[in-house]
Amino acid sequence: MKPSVINIITFAVISGLQSQGTTEAALFSNLGPCPPLPDFPPTSTYTLRPFKTYSSDVVIPFSYFSSPRDASEVLSLVNWAKNAGYRVRGVGQMHSWSPVTLSKYEEGTLCPKFLLVDTTKYLTGIKVTTDFNTSLHSVTLGPGVTLRRLLETLESHQLGIFSSPAQGDLSVGGMLAVGAHGSGIKTTTHSKSLGHSYGTFSNLVLEMDVIGWDNDTEKYVVKTLPRSHPDTKAFLVNLGRTFVTRVKIRVGADQMLRSQSFFTTVRQLFGRGDLVRDGDKPNLADYLDSFGRIQVLSLETGSDSGVLLFGWHSEPEKPAGSRLTKTPYNYIFGNYLPGNKILKWLLARIPHIWRFFARLSFPINIAVSSLAGYQDYWGLSKNHLLYNSKYVPIIRPNSFVLVTSRQNFQTVVSIIRKGYDDLASEWHSRGEYPDAGSFDIRVCGVEDPENILAQGAEPPIFSPAKPVPSHPEYDIVIWFEFGTYPETRKAQEFVADWQSLLYRDIHHVYGVLRVEWAKGWGHTWEKAWSNETIFDTLPRVLSSSDELKEWNLGVEILDRYDPWRIFSNGFLDRILIKA
Ligand SMILES: Cc1cc2nc3c(=O)[nH]c(=O)nc-3n(C[C@H](O)[C@H](O)[C@H](O)COP(=O)(O)OP(=O)(O)OC[C@H]3O[C@@H](n4cnc5c(N)ncnc54)[C@H](O)[C@@H]3O)c2cc1C
Repeated sequence: MKPSVINIITFAVISGLQSQGTTEAALFSNLGPCPPLPDFPPTSTYTLRPFKTYSSDVVIPFSYFSSPRDASEVLSLVNWAKNAGYRVRGVGQMHSWSPVTLSKYEEGTLCPKFLLVDTTKYLTGIKVTTDFNTSLHSVTLGPGVTLRRLLETLESHQLGIFSSPAQGDLSVGGMLAVGAHGSGIKTTTHSKSLGHSYGTFSNLVLEMDVIGWDNDTEKYVVKTLPRSHPDTKAFLVNLGRTFVTRVKIRVGADQMLRSQSFFTTVRQLFGRGDLVRDGDKPNLADYLDSFGRIQVLSLETGSDSGVLLFGWHSEPEKPAGSRLTKTPYNYIFGNYLPGNKILKWLLARIPHIWRFFARLSFPINIAVSSLAGYQDYWGLSKNHLLYNSKYVPIIRPNSFVLVTSRQNFQTVVSIIRKGYDDLASEWHSRGEYPDAGSFDIRVCGVEDPENILAQGAEPPIFSPAKPVPSHPEYDIVIWFEFGTYPETRKAQEFVADWQSLLYRDIHHVYGVLRVEWAKGWGHTWEKAWSNETIFDTLPRVLSSSDELKEWNLGVEILDRYDPWRIFSNGFLDRILIKA
């Protein structure tokens, strides 16, 4: 049976069928080429569905999925998996690009021995709490709650968070696993609410329930970890090396925000502040200072090419001329490109056509935003934090994370951008256009546990936004990426070349380079997530000394809670190990 057919027909297999007289042969045929799961818990069900990462870098046509109704059913599935020789992966919205759920190592097997535990159907509880002694707010969440539902619920309680990913269809479990981030740093003019944090989503955690091995009962059990527990720091960003069944996070009073879009140029934004300025026009550091929360997006290369800069900040009163908005996804850039399939097809054949689309897309976006009044809008925070609609083309973002200082910001972004532009023009001179795609920048603060006002809280060990103890002046985190259609000719070679430049020119010169777990990283000329040299940097860039203490401690904690490596896959077995 073809995967596409499987896609349409979902096979619900109730394990109790066998005892009702259904023969194993009949079950076998219902499952296509896959065998039934042996001795599956009779009160649970599973289905066979395809699994794929967001831009199809990993595609597994036949995967076993189950949707447990509560934490005790998750436990029963996990204990079954351990005894049956299967592994378990937590699954949210399957919106990751990297092989953190299933990987190439599983792709070679027809029906991999993995049970994908889908949180999005039932593990979706949500409860807002206010401590009236301290006036601090928190919310307790099932791992399957989506970001959009979280923000809507908070909004209905006049609460919110300072920054978040830009797309609402991401699950809490998935965001925690990778340390998902938005954009926003401290500024002198725009304040955050009490309890808001400048770091990643993972830094908001006050308490979490994870599944871990219990030596006494010789079973997996649910363990509650307050943020102050010495083991919690290994679970805050966990890459799915555990299963989170519940999490409580800190939230603060909602804010009214104002968003503005500016259409500008590479020359203006990325001139080296100390050396070159485009007249007295603001550069990127100036925008960062005045807004605190910015997103840069460009589709072309070269110093005269256009850049969209999108900035937002708190503004308690509605400014005259700013349009009131009550819904998210007001930022329309990127929606005016032809559908995915046509674009991919064209780029695979005539990659330089990208320049035409990119150039056309700018004036269209300027015209549509000003006609629709979305160059300047104002409203509750959710309607600004969520701006990346699900209708934007599916690219693969190849992302880099630089922890650096505010002082270095303009210099470092100009070096990053110049390297990117020069590399593209070198390829163009050879008649190749591998840079079809987008260049993005966002900035947030390093993880600061003090933000969430929880005694004894430590930063997440595996967070790319973790502070660098030997550089206390590194106070910001630049997330920048080249989003590409992997089908574009030479795109992989281009991003691997760019990666080499970045490690040569900025790593340990202007900051520390880390990877964004959910996206494209670890490039070779052939593929992403395969560069052993980059794998080797991970323990170093996430530890404070050559002894690699933090990394090894993090791995030891995860291994202690999961000594059978039930919550892992072939890729994680290679990277999330002691150094
Ligand atoms: C269009 C789009 C926009 C995005 N925008 C942003 C952005 O602005 N900022 C940002 O940081 N990221 C962004 N991302 C990436 C996204 O944050 C991550 O890929 C996130 O992990 C996706 O969540 P998910 O629910 O799809 O998780 P999945 O992809 O289903 O899972 C991701 C990982 O989480 C693990 N996991 C899931 N549930 C659990 C659980 N209960 N316990 C333990 N592990 C679990 C999985 O095993 C896997 O390792 C974006 C992705 C897309 C597709």
